[in-house]
Amino acid sequence: MRGAGYVAWYPITTESADFSEGNSLFEVADRWKAREAGSAFKLALSLPGGSREATQTLLCGAEARGSSGQAGKDRGIQVECGWSPLGTVTPTFALAEYVDESKAPLKLFSLRGHETGASKYSNALEPATKFVSGWFGPPVAPIAIADLADPNSAPFESGTLLMASMAAEDSKLAGINLVHELVHSALPSSRPWVYEGLAHFAEALYRQEQGGRQAALDVLGLHRAAFLDAEKEAAAAAQKNAGEKSAGQPLSSTFDETYYRSKAAYVWWMLRDMAGDDALKQAIHKYRSEDDTDKNPKYVEQLIEAAAKRDLGWFFDDWVYRDRGLPDVHVQSVHPWQTEKGSQMITVTLENLGNAGAEVPFTVICEGGEVTTRIEVHAKSTATTRVEVRGAAREIVVNDGSVPESDVTNNVFQISAPQK
Ligand SMILES: [Zn+2]
Repeated sequence: MRGAGYVAWYPITTESADFSEGNSLFEVADRWKAREAGSAFKLALSLPGGSREATQTLLCGAEARGSSGQAGKDRGIQVECGWSPLGTVTPTFALAEYVDESKAPLKLFSLRGHETGASKYSNALEPATKFVSGWFGPPVAPIAIADLADPNSAPFESGTLLMASMAAEDSKLAGINLVHELVHSALPSSRPWVYEGLAHFAEALYRQEQGGRQAALDVLGLHRAAFLDAEKEAAAAAQKNAGEKSAGQPLSSTFDETYYRSKAAYVWWMLRDMAGDDALKQAIHKYRSEDDTDKNPKYVEQLIEAAAKRDLGWFFDDWVYRDRGLPDVHVQSVHPWQTEKGSQMITVTLENLGNAGAEVPFTVICEGGEVTTRIEVHAKSTATTRVEVRGAAREIVVNDGSVPESDVTNNVFQISAPQK
């Protein structure tokens, strides 16, 4: 084994790339991943025997593939592991003195001293499985959570194996980590934006169940910075090469993590807000990875449209099939008026300055409370709607954070008092 820290290198064949040329190296690596996503990766591991006292368990991905050191005579381990197809997975193996506390479909490997942290995972399994089954179908493949010795190590994922330190003893995090892996188990897909995007979307959904919508938006918010930066770079590059509308990547075919994790999580969330829970669940239950091929590039769109009975072509064009950057929505005008029956109304016009359309929520704050409603505002367009209010409207807040925007400084609009 060679490499730095826990990384072992393996050779790949690509065009040349240079660290000094911005993102060129990452782009080349992403293209390699896309090209080889259907390939198989085979690994032959040979670990010499010795006089180890303790039993060590070898994990290849989510599978325990052997143990060494039992009963004095340690003959070592010889195994072959495979990843087929490779997809977005980084082949991973681990060898440690694990305590095996597996309970189907969860394989749980903890290190001594982390019993309490491991029990958080055991306890979170049942509610997490119930939640995932309801939204994404029953988990089919085993998942594994394996402990890391260093409590400050960043978690690392390889397929349905998550390596994360159990020192933290955090039940909220354990639940979210389990939900993520169970979604992978329930919903295999060769499309990274479906496979990874849905798992990250599910983390936010699960938080909503426990802590409400704002808690869920906070989980999504962790993704915001990374992908806003990527969209800004793409927009800047597009301006340089005039004629090209955007230098970004279509979500439907990307192998760039920032897009297929962070952007995809937001896209699924927006689709859920537009389609509703029941329709999106129905669409997800019908999803089959083998049908999601290039033969029908609109497969996901059609599943959701059929369930929601709504045209979402404009949304998929702006967010999934192309990278049009982000919307930027603000209040263009507000007109208060009274109906013949005496109820108070306001007419609100929103304008979207960006190149991507969105259905945005907005909240009217008035003397008698607040009203939240939603409206579709397409790219470089305006949209108008009426809202019934109780008492004089004072302020309008556009977007609760569920729609990623390039500019959020123009989202609050003060309504001046009507002249008598
Ligand atoms: Zn994942």
